[in-house]
Amino acid sequence: MSKKVFLSAGHGGSDPGAVANGLKEKDINLQTMLACQSELVRHGITVVCSRTTDENDPVAQEVKEANASGADIAVSFHANAGRGDGFEAFYYSGDADGRKLASLCEKYAKQLGQNSRGLKTNNLMFTRETAMTAVLVESFFLDHATDKQIGDTVAEQKAFGIAYAKAILEYLGITYKESVTSITAPIDKWYRVQIGAYKEKKNAEAMLKKVKAAGFTDAYINS
Ligand SMILES: [Zn+2]
Repeated sequence: MSKKVFLSAGHGGSDPGAVANGLKEKDINLQTMLACQSELVRHGITVVCSRTTDENDPVAQEVKEANASGADIAVSFHANAGRGDGFEAFYYSGDADGRKLASLCEKYAKQLGQNSRGLKTNNLMFTRETAMTAVLVESFFLDHATDKQIGDTVAEQKAFGIAYAKAILEYLGITYKESVTSITAPIDKWYRVQIGAYKEKKNAEAMLKKVKAAGFTDAYINS
């Protein structure tokens, strides 16, 4: 049976969350969550989201939605403020699985070059009231002059989402597969390989002609 994951993008609508340096936490959380969602869906996970647009979604409602979803785990995405520096994650006190999931989120956030303030237990409604193992991550401090630089663009916010998807997949025992769009080799290189596979040079030359006619002027026969 396919695994089910509940994702929450913290704040939203009339509640922007933390605001500083032209950044609104609710927008960061949503970009991170959407990237995480699409990575998980690509790996066959059923994902239930607290919101997929900029709308009101208080924590009590997130908890209700999470518990109604019947998901195996729940992760809530936030960005921090208060002049600290680095990633941190919260799990419910005594939940060993929560600690494991939080530590995987930390591992993959560090792979983005982010520093960590550590894994913490706190009496947060999201980790306390959810029926399943739940983790709340704070990716970076949007009010910190240098820490914000790791997440102040949409591409970086999405990178955090992909990192958390890797953490969730590892937690669930599913191997991460690179997406086709992340392969950066130029297309003409592909043609070089194909042309090099011909036994007859004249066949390779005929293919080269076709390839060049198609606009790949950089193609050549690798003999
Ligand atoms: Zn928040």
